[in-house]
Amino acid sequence: MCELLVGLPAVRVLGIVDEPGGPLFVHIETTGGRASCPGCGGRATVKERDSVVLVDLPAFGRRTRLVWRKHRWACPSRLCAWPSWTGEEPTIAAPRLVLTDRAGRWATEQVGRCGRTVDEIGVELGCDWHTVNDAVIAYGTALVDDDPHRIGAPTAVGLDETLFARVGRWRTQLWSTSIVNVGAGQLLDVVAGRDSAGPCAWFAERSDEWRARIEWATLDLSGPYRVVFDTMLPDATQVADPFHLVKLANTKLDEVRRRVQNETLGHRGRKTDPLYRCRRLLTKADERLDDRGRSKLLGLLEAGDPHGEVRMAWHAKEVVRSIYDHTDADLAEAFVDRLGHDLQDQSCPPEVRQMGRTILRWRDQIVAWHRAHVSNGPTEAVNNLIKRVKRVAFGFKRFRNYRIRTLLYAGKPNWDLLPTVTPR
Ligand SMILES: [Zn+2]
Repeated sequence: MCELLVGLPAVRVLGIVDEPGGPLFVHIETTGGRASCPGCGGRATVKERDSVVLVDLPAFGRRTRLVWRKHRWACPSRLCAWPSWTGEEPTIAAPRLVLTDRAGRWATEQVGRCGRTVDEIGVELGCDWHTVNDAVIAYGTALVDDDPHRIGAPTAVGLDETLFARVGRWRTQLWSTSIVNVGAGQLLDVVAGRDSAGPCAWFAERSDEWRARIEWATLDLSGPYRVVFDTMLPDATQVADPFHLVKLANTKLDEVRRRVQNETLGHRGRKTDPLYRCRRLLTKADERLDDRGRSKLLGLLEAGDPHGEVRMAWHAKEVVRSIYDHTDADLAEAFVDRLGHDLQDQSCPPEVRQMGRTILRWRDQIVAWHRAHVSNGPTEAVNNLIKRVKRVAFGFKRFRNYRIRTLLYAGKPNWDLLPTVTPR
């Protein structure tokens, strides 16, 4: 009867201890026959019984502990030198994990699929963060890494950098690179660092056929990712992500504003300074400025920008944004060429001239967007997913935790496989 409720195969219930206010303790042992010695094949004898306390799923609204009297076996033969061993039963719990097998799989789905926090699950089961996290990582790693079909056969991939932690006294930034199936909006993998080494190694692990299928490769305006695609996917057309080009234009605008601020007033922006007051209006998209906002912006620029440099950088930003208004690829190409040269005119602030050079250096990738019509939109969608995971987790300290958690959440694992995976 008790065995039926506990619901584990080949288990005998030795007793149930119910301490008021505490969890329910269910004492069990396995009923499997006597083990045989892995060394000589002879029948083993029980050397001792160790009790292991496992965290199980709540039962009848109570937190539950499974107290498993594990057999420690020994070989009685004097001729055999095999050391004693513990009888494992993976249907009860995986070796080394403190959560029972069913609790571990449940926790993995709660955290990985539903995006609940490890702390929340710990409170529900009545155990600490590490106990839950160890299980989520063990089952999660198996789910995302042992399924050869998860990665699929994408035709467009993207690379993007993500900051996943700040560690230590100096809040050192830890970066990672997301590898994304741009068409499906699926996170394929996360590798440490934002240089070319990690992604190159990742692409090298795929087959030649897999790489040959990729037609489009999207990236931000970063040299290392260009190296990755040049070397690993030489036949794919590189597409610069519009989001990052617009971001660059906004960064340059910001740099000009701060420099002019300093040159005219001799200090960093204070809340009464005109250039400081218009910083948000400047980066706002022009079509989202109403008449009041625009006249306020022009008035503040009039007051704080004597040589019109900020205004010029503001225009440059809007013109860069208009690259993506073009629907005709040939016209867009001519537009980008002209823009790259115009921005390098001597009348432009140095920050804007530098952007002009960047645009010409990335001309092919920028223009390719109009031919590909695969923007990094899905990559951004995946990054938003990653940001959600990060919010849930309050920042990760270890790369492995971060990788598995984001892949469970944004990597589209096949959750139907969860009941059958072997935890790692
Ligand atoms: Zn033996």
